[in-house]
Amino acid sequence: MRKKIIAGNWKMNNDIAQTTALINGITAQVASTNAEVIVCPPFTSLFTAAQLLAGSSVKLGAQDVSLHDSGAYTGEISVAMLKSVGCAYVIVGHSERRQYHAETNEIVNLKAKKVLAGGLLPIICIGETLEEREKGITDRVLTTQTKGVLAGLPASDVERSIVAYEPVWAIGTGKTATKEQAEDAHRLIRSVIASLYSSETAEKVIIQYGGSVKPDNAKELLSQPNIDGALVGGACLKADSFAGIINAA
Ligand code: PEP
Repeated sequence: MRKKIIAGNWKMNNDIAQTTALINGITAQVASTNAEVIVCPPFTSLFTAAQLLAGSSVKLGAQDVSLHDSGAYTGEISVAMLKSVGCAYVIVGHSERRQYHAETNEIVNLKAKKVLAGGLLPIICIGETLEEREKGITDRVLTTQTKGVLAGLPASDVERSIVAYEPVWAIGTGKTATKEQAEDAHRLIRSVIASLYSSETAEKVIIQYGGSVKPDNAKELLSQPNIDGALVGGACLKADSFAGIINAA
C-alpha cells in the first residue's frame, strides 16, 4: 500500500521570523502522524527550517532548482546546494514556473533528472488549464505531460519520484476539483505510467493532488484510491490548517 505524502509549498512567503514560527507550529502538531510531511519554504528560509526540523520526521523540500551544477548563473541554486542545506525533495514544473518562467515539459524533465542524479527526489507537477478542460482535452494534455516529464527516466527513478496532479484552474482559486475529477485524472496518469513502464511501477508511484486543498476537503480527496497525498499552497501557511490536512491523511 502506498503511503500518503503531504507537501506544503510556501511559495514566496515568510521571512526568517515567520519561518521559525510556522515550522515550530507544524512540528508541534504533527508529532504523531502516519503520513510523510514535507515543507517547501523559499530558498532564503531553507537553512533556518533545516535547523528547526533536526530530529523531526518532517522533511525539507525546495520549490525549484537550476539545471546547472555551478558557475556563472546569477540567481540560480544547484541541486548540490539544496542537498547541503538539508533538502530531500525539490518541486519541479510547478504551474507558476511554467506560466511565469516559460518552463516546458522538456525543462521539467531535465530538472527531474538533475534532482534524481543529485540524490534528491522530485515532486513533478503537471495539470491542465481551464481552457484545456473546457475544450475536453484534459486527458490528452495529461498524457502528453506525463510522457514528457518522465521521458528517459528508468523505472527505478520513476518509482522514487512523486507526481503532483495540479489542475491549473484550481491552484490558488478556491476551486477544488471534485473527488471524481481528481480521481479520474490520477487514474489516467497512473495508466499512462503503466503503459510506459509496467503496472508494478505505476502502482508504486505517489500521485499527489494539488489545487485549493483545505482541511475540510482533504479527507474526501485523500480517500480516493489513486490519490496518495496533497501538494498544498495557501492552506500550508498556517500550522493549524496544514495540520488539519495532515490529520485527514
Ligand atoms: C500549489 O501552489 O501547488 C497549490 C496547490 O496552491 P493552493 O493550495 O493555494 O491552490
